[in-house]
This record gives sequence, C-alpha cells and structure tokens, in this order.
Amino acid sequence: MNHLPSQLLQLLLLAAALLRPASAKCHIAKRGLSKDLLLIGTVLTSDGALLDSTILIQSGRIAHVGDICGLGTRGGDASVLNCTGSVVSPGFINTHEHISFATVSPFPDIGERVGHRHDWRLGTRNYTMRAVAVNGSDAAATAWGELRHLFSGTTSIIGGGMVPGLARNLDFRDGVEEGLDERVVIYDTFPLGDGLGMMRNGDCDYGPNPIDRDTAIGYHRYIGHIGEGIDVEAANEFTCLSNVTFDTTPALAGGGLSTDIIAPNVALVHALGLTPQDFDVVAARGAKIVWSPRSNMYLYGKTLNVSYLLEAGITVALGTDWLPSGSATMGREAACAASAANESFGAELPPKLLWEMATANAAVVAGFEDQLGSLEVGKLADIVVFEGGSRERGAADPFEQAIFAPQEKIELVLRGGKILLANSEVEDLVSGTCEPVAFGSSDKIACVADELGSSFKELEASLRGVYPVVLPELPPDEPTCNAAIWSL
Ligand SMILES: [Zn+2]
Repeated sequence: MNHLPSQLLQLLLLAAALLRPASAKCHIAKRGLSKDLLLIGTVLTSDGALLDSTILIQSGRIAHVGDICGLGTRGGDASVLNCTGSVVSPGFINTHEHISFATVSPFPDIGERVGHRHDWRLGTRNYTMRAVAVNGSDAAATAWGELRHLFSGTTSIIGGGMVPGLARNLDFRDGVEEGLDERVVIYDTFPLGDGLGMMRNGDCDYGPNPIDRDTAIGYHRYIGHIGEGIDVEAANEFTCLSNVTFDTTPALAGGGLSTDIIAPNVALVHALGLTPQDFDVVAARGAKIVWSPRSNMYLYGKTLNVSYLLEAGITVALGTDWLPSGSATMGREAACAASAANESFGAELPPKLLWEMATANAAVVAGFEDQLGSLEVGKLADIVVFEGGSRERGAADPFEQAIFAPQEKIELVLRGGKILLANSEVEDLVSGTCEPVAFGSSDKIACVADELGSSFKELEASLRGVYPVVLPELPPDEPTCNAAIWSL
C-alpha cells in the first residue's frame, strides 16, 4: 500500500494555501492508486464554513469531514483534488419540479396574473389558457431537465418524472440510485382530484378520488400541490385537507368529504392561498412547505411571507416548479427567493438560510436527511464544488458563492462519489465516457453518456432548438420575479 503520510498531506495543503491563485480552481494535487478521493476546500456545514478543510470519499460515501489531522493514515492512497479557496457543498435537492416539461420554454409574459392555477392551466374565469407543448419524447425531455439541474449543482429532484442515472429522483424507487430504494416520496399534483378545474368555496366537492388521511399518513413522505392561488378557492383547498368537520356530506360522484392530512410526513407545495392562521396549523402539526417563489410571482404576482413561516418553526425547502413559469436552476430560485422576500416583505434572507432551503431542509422534506443534504460521515457523496471567485479568502460569504453560483462557476458535481461534471483541469480523474462541453468561457467535461445512453451532444442535437441546459449566465427569457408587473 502506498500510504501517503498525513504530514505530507498537510504539507501539500499548506503549499496549496500559499500558492493559491487569485481565482481558485480545483486541480489534481496527487493521483492515487485507489478510487478514494480527497477534496480540499472550504466546506459548508450547518455550523458554518470550514476553511481549508478536507472531505474523504470512499465507496461513494463520505468517510471524513474536517481537519486533515483527523484523517490519520486513511486516504493515503486517495487521489487528492485541491480546491483550496473553492466552496464544497452538498448537492442541491430540488423539492419541486415537473421535470418532463423541461423542453417547454418559459411562457411569454402577457402581463396577466391570475387568482388560481386553473385560470392559466385551463383558461377558467376568462383568463388566458397557457399552452404547454412538450418537444421531444417524454424520456428525452426528462433527461434534458435532469441535465439542466445537474449542470447547476442539483443532484436530487422530486419532479414527477425520471430517467435512470443522472440526478436522483426521490419520487421513484428505480430513480433514487445507489440502493436507496426502500422509500420514496409520493408526489401529487392534484391531491383533491381537481385536475379538470374544480374550484370550490364552502364545500369540498372536488374530484371523486381525493387524498384521504389514512393514505397520506401511510406514506413515507407525501408532497402535494395545495392552495396554489391567491383567492378564496385556493384557501378552501387547505380547509378541505386540514379540517375533518368542514364538509361531512359526500358528493354524489364520490369524494366530497373534508379530511385532515396535515402531519409531519406531509409537505405542501405552493400553499399560496393559506392564511397566517392556516400556517399556524401547518407549524403545530409539523408539516413542511415547498416554496417556489418565481413561479408564484410570475403566475400570481405574490409569494409566501416566508419569514412568518420560519418564525413559526416551519421547515421550508426550495423548488423550481417548472421551466414555463419557474426557475431554470436552484441558484436562480434562491435569487428570486431573496429578492421577492425583500421586495414584498422587507425581509433579508441570508445566503446560508437559502442554502439550507436547498440542502438540509430539502432533505428533511424529502425524508432522506439520514443520507443526503449535508456533508457528514456516512452520507452519500453528493457533492458540488463552486469556484471561490477572486476575492480574498474570508472576504466573501462562501454560502453566497454556493447558492447563487451560475453554472460557469461550478467546478465539480459528484453523485455518490461519481464525477458527472468537472472542470477540464480535473480530466485525469474522471472515468467512463466523458465529453467536453463549453460553459461560456469555462471548459468542462460531462461524464453522463454511460447513464444517458447517448452522448450529451447527441441528445442536444436530437432536441435542437429547445431551451438550453448549458446556462453559463442568466437563463434566457427567465420569468420575472418582480411583483411590479402586477399593476399592468
Ligand atoms: Zn407544480
């Protein structure tokens, strides 16, 4: 065995810190004999950012986090990737997507903000129905969506669709990857069976097969769209799902009864129609909220007063919703979260808080907090490295560098320790079929062909003309996160 003494590793680390260029980028400090990987960089944890820290990855999991001295003789034959000055984060977990719509471009902004989701979905109440035409096969579109998120630092998605490999799909047993298939998130777009456009006020006469308490409580996690709108009809949906005595008269065609599913294993997507009193119920029951501010602002001109939710003790996670009205990346969702909270409620959401909404909180919402969402020993090595930028060490907020990073600044994406995207400087460490992909001025290599079943370039060519997945700068035609257009 070729054990590199830890003193030598420490020397490497010291030299790396001293020689760190103004704009830090990961580079291979040592090629090891084993498949183990030692990352050196600024490691993000819930307790803060650990400068010049290390992470050892063995067999796809995290074997060590922290000071290099704690390694002992472990990692002696690991390859060493020196990312000093860069920021090492858990991969983002996107708790809400409609991933198979990834080839549908953002809706053109016609200056119309609606009261309820059925207004834009179906054109009810004289609103404009928004056309949703998917380009390419369902599988190609879904792969395309997973690639866009993967290239943006997202390693897990709850998105109502899946392809094998690429990002983890936490709502499909055969999409979770690396043997995590003993549990799954149940994802529901129409908990009340209201897909045909039923809007109620004062009773619960929606579709014939709504979710009920026993079913919801039996799931590991149940994540449903509830109250997506700003009117009384949206508020009514929460009442029908949180108050057993509200409607005790069955509907003739089935369903029609109110129920109470609000429990710790349940997360509400959007919840835009809920009152502060409703959120008090959510908090008291330990239920969670999935927040998609850009889609909220764009479709309804309003989003949640998330400070109220946080003060009530509710776990909030971010989700991008979908490309037509939401964010193309988790970073852009976080940017919208910050600006919408400030503009609408005068709230300052710190970057670390937004980062938690995309990592640890999201893992809790998904029910995978023992495996994902933080850099801790024993967890899966779903890891993203973000370029630290040119500012002096300590001057910039490393959480800000992670959560708001454009794709161009992503140096490395690992799922279960496997390199799926990397800067070209790291090429000698990758395995499998990889190909160069230019992210603006940053040359990267994508190692997705083995899982995709074709090269990235072949998939891109087959979907020519659809919304891009390589987005080195601001995503084009991004739906507005600004409430001002509400007055149009
Ligand atoms: Zn949705």
